[in-house]
Amino acid sequence: MKIHEYQAKGILAKYGVAVPRGEMANTKEEAFEISKHLLANGAKGIVVKAQIHAGGRGKGGGVKLAKTAEEAEQLAGKILGMQLVTHQTGPQGQKVQRLLIEETLPIERELYLGIVLDRATSKLVFMASAAGGMEIEEVAAKDPNAILKETIDPAVGFEPFQARKLAFALGLKPEQLNPAVQLMTALYRATAEADASLCEINPFITTTDGRVFALDAKMTFDDNALFRHKDIKELRDIAEEDPLEVEASKYSLNYIRLDGNIACMVNGAGLAMATMDIIQYAGGMPANFLDVGGGANAEQVEHAFEILLSDKNVKAVLINIFGGILRVDTLAKGVVEAARKTKIGIPVVLRLEGTNVEQGREILKQSGFNFLVAETMKDAAEKVVRAAT
Ligand code: GDP
Ligand code: MN
Repeated sequence: MKIHEYQAKGILAKYGVAVPRGEMANTKEEAFEISKHLLANGAKGIVVKAQIHAGGRGKGGGVKLAKTAEEAEQLAGKILGMQLVTHQTGPQGQKVQRLLIEETLPIERELYLGIVLDRATSKLVFMASAAGGMEIEEVAAKDPNAILKETIDPAVGFEPFQARKLAFALGLKPEQLNPAVQLMTALYRATAEADASLCEINPFITTTDGRVFALDAKMTFDDNALFRHKDIKELRDIAEEDPLEVEASKYSLNYIRLDGNIACMVNGAGLAMATMDIIQYAGGMPANFLDVGGGANAEQVEHAFEILLSDKNVKAVLINIFGGILRVDTLAKGVVEAARKTKIGIPVVLRLEGTNVEQGREILKQSGFNFLVAETMKDAAEKVVRAAT
């Protein structure tokens, strides 16, 4: 699960990470009041920041500076409601519904800090780079040595010597070392305790008056750990998520929308991945990843089918099921029921194997729908690619 920058900063601040003063605003009037308050309390200027679940907002025009509360209100009015396009949103962009109104700070250097779960070692890795403010993916591709890494042993946690090593390597001034070590340590504690799989500060800044701050913050949480973080779960903003993915999550379906036009419904994540591969091998593009799960019931299959079909890009469907706990006849009932309700107008290819496969095929035959039945996975992929073009 992703959260907004202002929410991440709220969590980090509780752990003692230094963040600029600021508040979230839903309207331009709120933006005005917050700005007035900040300026009356020593802020030198105001930054108006669009809150969407995507990076690259600065380049896309979602981060603007103001000198007065009136100016901040005007900028807020322009940014709220706009369809913000960044390299992470896709060409359609994301509608801005919230803003973060913050004090500006006298930036000296823009650096990068990040903590990410390294699945290869099953450990958190602390990353730091002097090349902050830019896209870190680009830095990593062009000059991997510009990113410093410290692997964290979960039994001992992030050790002070590791923080000092990173702080020195970033070339910080002597008076900035201790505050930076403190900030990094707090960042690690927040990440580990909140079960975040990613925590990224880009930029992490030093100021001309010798302080350090997290100027931006991004946190992503492990969905499987959310049950033990009720407060974090409440931060979910479904307006930021794909509506079909939100719908799928209601029925415990593992669904991720993609750009292609061949929908696939599969049981088991491994088989789902293999199905996406073989569709591409046959020259097609999958419209989604969908794992209905090993123990899906007819109702879940029905909902899954409805979700697949409500994607307007979909030109054909491939159902690839190996019946184990989910028996093939159960699946067939769900598919027929959904086909009845949604009045499908596109080709559906099925490749079925496993428990009760004969009964399943019989149900499909009796249904009156013109389902295309394939013998092998290769055959299924070729049939569905042909049907979609
Ligand atoms: P992102 O583009 O979505 O990653 O948004 P960021 O929060 O990282 O902001 C983008 C850029 O805006 C930063 O790299 C800074 O250069 C600039 N920026 C953000 N806040 C301030 C601020 O308080 N003062 C100044 N001068 N620049 C800021
Ligand atoms: Mn950033």
